[in-house]
Amino acid sequence: LVEMRGVQKHFGDFQALKDIDLDVARGEVVVVIGPSGSGKSTLCRTINRLETITEGTIRVDGRDLPQEGAALARLRSDVGMVFQSFNLFAHLTILDNVTLGPIRVRGLKKAEAEAEAMRLLDRVGVAHQAQKFPAQLSGGQQQRVAIARSLAMKPKLMLFDEPTSALDPEMINEVLDTMVELAEEGMTMVVVTHEMGFARKAAHRVVFMADGEIVEVAEPERFFTDPQSDRAKDFLSKIL
Ligand code: ATP
Ligand code: MG
Repeated sequence: LVEMRGVQKHFGDFQALKDIDLDVARGEVVVVIGPSGSGKSTLCRTINRLETITEGTIRVDGRDLPQEGAALARLRSDVGMVFQSFNLFAHLTILDNVTLGPIRVRGLKKAEAEAEAMRLLDRVGVAHQAQKFPAQLSGGQQQRVAIARSLAMKPKLMLFDEPTSALDPEMINEVLDTMVELAEEGMTMVVVTHEMGFARKAAHRVVFMADGEIVEVAEPERFFTDPQSDRAKDFLSKIL
């Protein structure tokens, strides 16, 4: 579903991504881990073209990333993204947060969009909060709304960039459980996270990055018990 070949990203003189080759198959869950500043967020952001790349190619669903216009809008709805900060629209109710995209971009009628939004909110366990505003919800609930809002665009792929790192510990699992369910339903996912429990439970592959490079790719069990590179060993010794 995603093919990255020789991808490089420069910010001025600084090279944030160095020659990245990565394929993500349909239905695959890839967890990306690595030290701060290793390029994990940049990698995610290139896939939905929040960042342009300076070298190489990225194809999503067989097509090169579009530059602009309707094709770029379609890419953005095909590739959902959930960030560390929930980024809900503070002045809109939970329900309106979820229906906005489907009405504006997918052209659904309000009633249709609301029915679908309620199904999604129910699925992530916050349907009873639909008429509230984001500030009235806990962080974990807001993040589950953010996931429902992305799903409402019917994405082919979901990117998660440290979706639980801004949450209080007791709320982390409710968000991870939602993500595990999504993975079990066959959603293609690229997940930047340091939650090793999630990686073990849901990931098909772990991609370890350091200094803008992919240093190691392995199945989770193998990666956590028997990392091959010194940098991965060093990183794991600090976080486990
Ligand atoms: P963290 O774990 O802290 O989130 P990360 O692996 O996600 O780190 P990135 O945010 O991808 O790292 O950043 C990779 C490198 O690129 C960092 O050195 C960062 O300072 C640099 N960088 C990222 N965005 C920009 C930008 N807009 N302008 C200049 N440098 C940037
Ligand atoms: Mg980051």
